[in-house]
Amino acid sequence: MATAYRIELKPGEVLFREGDAPSTAFLIESGNLRITAERDGAPMLLGELSAGALVGEMAVLDDSRRSATATALTACTLTPIDRAQFAERLQAADPVVRALLLSQLARYRTALATFTGNEPEPARASAHLESAHALDKIRLESQLRNAMERRELEIRLQPIQHIASGSLAGFEALTRWTHPERGVVSPADFIALAEETSLIVPVGEYVLREVCTALRRIANEASHAKPFVAFNVSGRQVGDADYVERVLAQLRRYEVAPAQLKIEITESLVLDYGQIATLIERAHKAGMQVALDDFGTGYSNLGHLHKLAFDTIKIDQGFIRQLEDSRCLAIVRAVIGMAGALGCDVVAEGVETPEHLAQLKQLGCQYAQGWLIGKPLTVDDAIAALTR
Ligand code: C2E
Ligand code: MG
Ligand code: MG
Repeated sequence: MATAYRIELKPGEVLFREGDAPSTAFLIESGNLRITAERDGAPMLLGELSAGALVGEMAVLDDSRRSATATALTACTLTPIDRAQFAERLQAADPVVRALLLSQLARYRTALATFTGNEPEPARASAHLESAHALDKIRLESQLRNAMERRELEIRLQPIQHIASGSLAGFEALTRWTHPERGVVSPADFIALAEETSLIVPVGEYVLREVCTALRRIANEASHAKPFVAFNVSGRQVGDADYVERVLAQLRRYEVAPAQLKIEITESLVLDYGQIATLIERAHKAGMQVALDDFGTGYSNLGHLHKLAFDTIKIDQGFIRQLEDSRCLAIVRAVIGMAGALGCDVVAEGVETPEHLAQLKQLGCQYAQGWLIGKPLTVDDAIAALTR
């Protein structure tokens, strides 16, 4: 039906009946409505609704038939709300929130059906699937919480080479989760999941402790080497005003020099320039470096880059992989030139072939990281590589 702007009901008039197919919900602007459901052939009162309340929204939310009849008790004015307005918001909502809402709705419908002696409508298969997916996500989230206690999260150290000398300059810490049933879960998946909630904070702290432990071991077991370890920081962590102070507290605890730790901020997060500028300033004051990760993939906003004193720019592997392409090569050359002029080092990510490495050397790129240089190593293997 075409949705009217306003609907007026006279006392006793029916807005919708039990069993009707839903098309609209309504917001009561004025007047009172009585909600009833049939039991043993007689209407049973479920409640009365007045101005400000929504009515008929349940059937619109879960696409079921009306489970009750709404009748005007007094003269009423209602604003119809098209189901698409709810559907869009419901689709855009967090899947876990959606699953919670639909599960509560299903429970209410079952209780109502039991109460009135009617058969509850079976839930749609797609609703089951959808909530199974949401529950899978929430299950993974609680398993991630436990993973830290059970020490299923580990870091791997991927070597970063100083190209001109061919020496091992440092590592990037990459987090690995070996799930007892699922096997290895990619950080791309569980970091994104942790970032959706505040869980990224304990995960980040865990990773930092692991990085500090690794640096402590390196200092003890490969004392001649002074490699840096870069680690990835998420947006939620950067937003915390005391973040750098908390990092420094950990460094003191493990007796690690701030110069050995490098913070990597992914470019897609460089949104709140004020926060990043403060973080860089505090890190520099403490002697710690900050790198801009995945350059060229997110918001390569040059208008802000000149205000952010990054020490390192990491060119995303997408560009390095296509160095044969003359346009890609032109971009990489320009980024290396720009970084040099800004006083930044450049790390090329995803270096997989000797040809790419030779080309990067010729372009004056300082550092390389990728399968050619080395895969992510266990801390034991990283120490072995330093003592070779
Ligand atoms: P990233 O920081 O850009 O890390 C580099 C990714 O490229 C890593 O994937 C690494 O294994 C992969 N890689 C390195 N060399 C090569 C290569 O030669 N070829 C190819 N094809 N890939 C290469 P990974 O370990 O799956 O990590 C993915 C992303 O997850 C990271 O991207 C980083 O943004 C995030 N991440 C990993 N660990 C953490 C963490 O502890 N905290 C946070 N916040 N994010 C993390
Ligand atoms: Mg990184
Ligand atoms: Mg990267």
